[in-house]
Amino acid sequence: MFLIAGVQPKTKRLDENPEQCPACGLVQAYTTRVDHYLSIFFIPLIRVKKGEPFLFCENCRCPVDGYRASTQELPLSGATTLCAACKRRFDRSFKYCPHCGQRA
Ligand SMILES: [Zn+2]
Ligand SMILES: [Zn+2]
Repeated sequence: MFLIAGVQPKTKRLDENPEQCPACGLVQAYTTRVDHYLSIFFIPLIRVKKGEPFLFCENCRCPVDGYRASTQELPLSGATTLCAACKRRFDRSFKYCPHCGQRA
């Protein structure tokens, strides 16, 4: 009996709308997830590990760094103003508070 079994990674594209890659500037970074499957004769049978989503640039052929940072709140650049109503900071270029709609 000759059985080839093993765990293989399987790349899954989660989103068909690419985002801009900060490394090369091309809009070819797709939200991707790598799941690990238990494979027999190179046929994925059982998913043994579900991966975390990340941005993968098709042009650079590598994951895009800073994806997690972009999902968090924007860093305060200093050009922000404090909302009089909700006391949250937002960019000075906004005419209205993006958090509560209060006029700046
Ligand atoms: Zn790129
Ligand atoms: Zn506000």
